[in-house]
Amino acid sequence: MKILYEDQLVDRDHVKIDLEDRGYQFGDGVYEVIRVYNGQFFTLREHLERFERSANELKMELSYSVEKLESLLKDLVLKNDVEDGGIYLQLTRGISPRQHNFPVGTKTMLTAYPLPSRRPEKEQLHGVKVKLVEDVRWLRCDIKSLNLLGNVMAKQEAKENGAFEALLHRNGTITEGSSTNFYLVKDGVIYTHPATNLILNGITRLKLMEIIKEGSFKLEEKSVTLEDLKNADEAFITSTTIEVVPVVEADNTMIGNGEPGPITRKLQSLFLGKIESEKSK
Ligand code: PMP
Repeated sequence: MKILYEDQLVDRDHVKIDLEDRGYQFGDGVYEVIRVYNGQFFTLREHLERFERSANELKMELSYSVEKLESLLKDLVLKNDVEDGGIYLQLTRGISPRQHNFPVGTKTMLTAYPLPSRRPEKEQLHGVKVKLVEDVRWLRCDIKSLNLLGNVMAKQEAKENGAFEALLHRNGTITEGSSTNFYLVKDGVIYTHPATNLILNGITRLKLMEIIKEGSFKLEEKSVTLEDLKNADEAFITSTTIEVVPVVEADNTMIGNGEPGPITRKLQSLFLGKIESEKSK
């Protein structure tokens, strides 16, 4: 496997991460997961924009231009023959003797490599269960940082309870999933948490909002409560790797009639259409 290591494509065995890399010691870095369909990136620009924004929010800079990164990532896909899959991209503040404050004059460290990714067809078709978990993460969830312990702990709790995803809530308000954005449908209106510091503004969320606005759907970027969830007609989650997945049960309570709803179904098919149309561009 070829890996993007700084600005070089090298063999996997060639990559040695330093003991004092700040990503390794502090989780001091940012990342992206970008989907590849039929050998072509989907929403690459949007992911790179978010990557740069996350880095800048943490006062980190790429050591070369986004244009160069874009072309290196395309090379990475080609050299690894990625057809259907994804690319994991990460930037850390680099290597320096361990101390909390930012090192002076240290170069950031960039790595990227292919991830296997398969469409979760069964889940997309039948819907999934979620486990409600209190959102104990920090207050900058808008930054796609390497610090994922809150997310990791929540996902594990979901798994141990036989659920596909953890649905996070803060003070009775639903924020998002541990690695997904969340939507609730009630009386024909689609609700999703506004893009504040409390959620990651998903690229799938942005694309889906385009679809929703193009269609005859009603959308409100407004948070919903755990109480609203009990009375929801439909619910679903989105992300780069799962696309649109219906949620049919939360903590052993059925959502709607316990089946994926008609608006969710429609959005699933429109999202697939979006992937197809961007592919042919
Ligand atoms: N929220 C969180 C916390 C996530 O980790 C992810 C996955 N990156 C998402 C939402 C969905 O984002 P995207 O659609 O860009 O994959």
